[in-house]
Amino acid sequence: DTTAPEIAGPSPRHRTVGVRIGEGEGAVVMGGGAPIVVQSMTNTDTADIDATVAQVAALARAGSEVVRITVDRDEAAVAVPKIRERLDRIGVHVPLVGDFHYIGHKLLTDHPACAEALAKYRINPGNVGFKEKKDLQFGTIVEQAARYGKAVRIGANWGSLDEALLTHMMDENANSAKPRDARAVMREAMVQSALLSADRAVEIGLPKERIVLSAKVSAVQDLIAVYREVARRSDYAIHLGLTEAGMGTKGIVAASAAIGVLLQEGIGDTIRYSLTPEPGGDRTVEVKVAQELLQTMGFRTFVPLVAACPGCGRTTSTVFQELARDIQNWITTSMPEWRKTYPGVEGLNVAVMGCIVNGPGESKHADIGISLPGTGETPTAPVFIDGKKAMTLRGATLAKDFEGIVIDYIER
Ligand code: SF4
Repeated sequence: DTTAPEIAGPSPRHRTVGVRIGEGEGAVVMGGGAPIVVQSMTNTDTADIDATVAQVAALARAGSEVVRITVDRDEAAVAVPKIRERLDRIGVHVPLVGDFHYIGHKLLTDHPACAEALAKYRINPGNVGFKEKKDLQFGTIVEQAARYGKAVRIGANWGSLDEALLTHMMDENANSAKPRDARAVMREAMVQSALLSADRAVEIGLPKERIVLSAKVSAVQDLIAVYREVARRSDYAIHLGLTEAGMGTKGIVAASAAIGVLLQEGIGDTIRYSLTPEPGGDRTVEVKVAQELLQTMGFRTFVPLVAACPGCGRTTSTVFQELARDIQNWITTSMPEWRKTYPGVEGLNVAVMGCIVNGPGESKHADIGISLPGTGETPTAPVFIDGKKAMTLRGATLAKDFEGIVIDYIER
């Protein structure tokens, strides 16, 4: 029915001012219509140079385009330029962001080499002091950024909301004719904390082209509400993230729900998954999950997608699950080499399906698809290339044969 209203995709991207992070190789742009940037943060003691270099390199190699490190004391600030130098020496040019709380003004002033080595400073307006002290400390960090030509993320956080601002707003609300509930006041305080601080930074002399905003909350609905409002009221580049998302599937689901809704509405220029890893767990998971969210929503492509059906009573043998797993692993491990040899390979779509119910149909939508035999079907696996049945595989070498077909396709 061509008269029916068009079924809409994501909203157009919210217009923001582009912010360049870093210089030369490795530099990225956040906002201004640039691709949505994946970023992450280390959990090593920054003063431990070896551990921090290793983790930054692992995060960057996993696909993190910006990496944040904690700068919480003199020893950490002293380590920063050495970490930058070591990373450059091993060919890892990912921009580094310094995460400052409480004494950032002092650390940046006392350690000019640290101020120079970082590409961006993160300030939390909730913990740079109060009133005159706040203005002095916040102002010092902003001035340092202006002096060194660095970007700043003004990162308001629910857990350390600007006390003075919140108290003032709560009092005002209590005395108003129509008081709102306390949660609504807190949401408004988050929005105002981020926006007033950003405007103050502009007043002090930092151009909008160097400012990124975030307003992180740990509850999904609050986060969506707060970011919608930040976007509605400003055109600062936006960093999205659900703070304290949590562990395992809970953290991934909560952050994906919040970030996914906002991205769909066109809001967000860079994303970070604040996942709590298992003790000694793999920190790069947060990068992979961020990439998968962006790719699955169609905003960026990083690695060829393998679509697979969930399997059901028609897939009683494990051949189907094994093939889906092996193809996914093979593609993921081959990617670093493929990327060098076959530019654009990340856009490839592969389907591995369990039977003829949806197998041929789904396989035809992929670049290459295979439909394995379900219970009771003839033990053959038709392969579809560019929507047409190209051949039929059977027997013990099926997985290897299919890999050969994928490689042939990529080469062509
Ligand atoms: Fe089951 Fe076939 Fe559907 Fe896969 S495609 S879930 S095997 S019916």
